[in-house]
Amino acid sequence: METRVTLERAIQIACATPMARVVERATLDDARHRVLATPLASLVDDPRFDNSAMDGFAVRASDCDRSGVRLKIVGTSQTGGETPPPIARAEACRIMTGAPMPEGADAIVMVEDTEVDDEHVIIHGPARTAYIRRRAENLSKGQEALPEGTLLSSASLALAGTMGHGQLELIRRPRIAVLSTGDELVEPGTELQPGQIYESNSHALSSLVEAMGCEATRIDSSNDSMDELRQTLDSLSSYDAILTSGGVSMGDWDLVRRIMEEEGEVAFWRINLRPGGPPLFGTWKGTPVFGLPGNPVSSLVVFHVLVAPWISKSLGYHEDMGPRISDRVSVRLEDDVAGAPGKLCLRRIRIRSHNGELLATTHTHQGSGNMHSMVAHNGLTLLPPDTDGKAGKTIDALWLR
Ligand code: AMP
Ligand code: MG
Repeated sequence: METRVTLERAIQIACATPMARVVERATLDDARHRVLATPLASLVDDPRFDNSAMDGFAVRASDCDRSGVRLKIVGTSQTGGETPPPIARAEACRIMTGAPMPEGADAIVMVEDTEVDDEHVIIHGPARTAYIRRRAENLSKGQEALPEGTLLSSASLALAGTMGHGQLELIRRPRIAVLSTGDELVEPGTELQPGQIYESNSHALSSLVEAMGCEATRIDSSNDSMDELRQTLDSLSSYDAILTSGGVSMGDWDLVRRIMEEEGEVAFWRINLRPGGPPLFGTWKGTPVFGLPGNPVSSLVVFHVLVAPWISKSLGYHEDMGPRISDRVSVRLEDDVAGAPGKLCLRRIRIRSHNGELLATTHTHQGSGNMHSMVAHNGLTLLPPDTDGKAGKTIDALWLR
């Protein structure tokens, strides 16, 4: 077991035990917010044929050299309709947006610039070739437009449809169990006895698990008892991964650490991070387990910097196009923020865009038990060990989505 590792080393160790990446077929209807397991190439040209970008008339540009020209209307080109008749000199064809260009036409006059007089159209405005959408100007048949590991959200789903895919190969959503531990924890909404507090970590962690394209199962919290923990972990060993919170520090009651050390396998314990120093990673009967800290801010922060990269790497998510819950950015500090000796320091900051740069401020106290600090802020500093962040300095940060 390694201990007091850097964040990079922790990610590396965890990634040596990835989750299984299972591929399954699904319909486009069942693909929403899922992740592509294979690259997707277009089955068609997009557009499939030259068509009009405007409602109006398809004409020959050379016929429309002055305002007031009269052209004979020879037919209509409708979307989904029959092939329109070809046009000759001094002729025009009515055309709808998206309908195919008739043979012989090389420009469009928009309907607002025309006047119909029985079987003729009088042209008052310009005839533009730019109003024609050319075959394959967006995508050619065979072109790969969606890489493997893409999250199918709104536009990418529509593009899969545009390219003709009714069925897709997707990454099966792994099932991740989220277990909180601690004798003091009770469900929100119930009455508190002396010494009890409301359990909250499992709600945040489950939501982050889902935002990363996985299925979360929130388990009622376990007491600080070796027997209960053993039983609960055993009952969860068929999941693809287990996230616990609490019980991984140095105290006598930190039983997640103890049971993992005595009866499971621990690959590392403790990371040089503030907040979020005590996490462990290992396996319980072969199932990957992240033992996250109990302090509410710490558990979320460690998910962002450790668990999310592990999920992405395990499942082969695309770096830009896959599910992600934060973006790495450069921000200019407007307030001083203290770093930490020997540790990567993740202070909470509020990031906003101002005059073309990202500025960062702090608003609440930074205690690792203060969940309000995660709501009042939307980012985390990435201050290297032994480095304070001075107002005016530009630093790396994570912008949380
Ligand atoms: P622990 O790591 O178990 O020592 O917990 C550290 C602190 O976080 C203690 O104050 C706990 O009461 C609190 N805590 C642990 N788990 C949770 C949880 N699931 N929800 C809210 N607070 C928690
Ligand atoms: Mg505890």
